[in-house]
Formats: sequence, C-alpha cells, structure tokens
Amino acid sequence: MQEGLALLRTCPMCRHQFDDTAVRVIEERSAMRLMHMSCGECQTAILAMVMASDLGMSTVGVLTDLSANDAERILGTDVFSEDDVLAFYSFIEQQGACRDLAQSKHIHILDRK
Ligand SMILES: [Zn+2]
Repeated sequence: MQEGLALLRTCPMCRHQFDDTAVRVIEERSAMRLMHMSCGECQTAILAMVMASDLGMSTVGVLTDLSANDAERILGTDVFSEDDVLAFYSFIEQQGACRDLAQSKHIHILDRK
C-alpha cells in the first residue's frame, strides 16, 4: 500500500503537500483502499482508489465535489461490493476527468488489461 499512498501525498493541482488530517480513508478492503483528500491550499478534493494485486499497485484518482463526509456517507457503506469497485473504475474511465490527473506525476492510471 505504501507505494500507492506515496503517489497521493501531494495535490496534483498546486503541489501542496496534504496534511495527514486532509486524507481520509473512506473504505478499506484487503486489496483496495478508497480515499478522500482535500487540499488545504487550493481546496481541490480528490477521490482516489488504491488497489493492490499480484501485478502491482494501481492508483486512480478523480476530482470530486464531494466533501469527505459526503464521500463517506455515499461510498463508505457495507454494501460497497466488488461490483461497485468496478463501477467506480469505469465511472472514472468514462469521466475523462482523470486525464489531467493521469498526466501528473502524483496520480497515475495503470491499465492492467
Ligand atoms: Zn492544491
């Protein structure tokens, strides 16, 4: 997990370093961690998913309007299934919003297909 987390330590928009308190783990599974980060400098909020597999670490991030509390309420539930994880993945892919993030050094997308 540490490798993926290191990628998420700075704001992709303004390079401000996230405070520990600005990072909230929304949902955690054995091989997946969904996190919300908010930048204290430019107020950018990011939803990021870190997934570990036999092939390595995948990190996807998307800009969001959700606050950490909203994200927790909507996404951090017990019904958050593996299907939801895949749905979240395809949501991000369709959004294209991640394209800017993907170009940043801090958050990248690894397509393992
Ligand atoms: Zn920022």
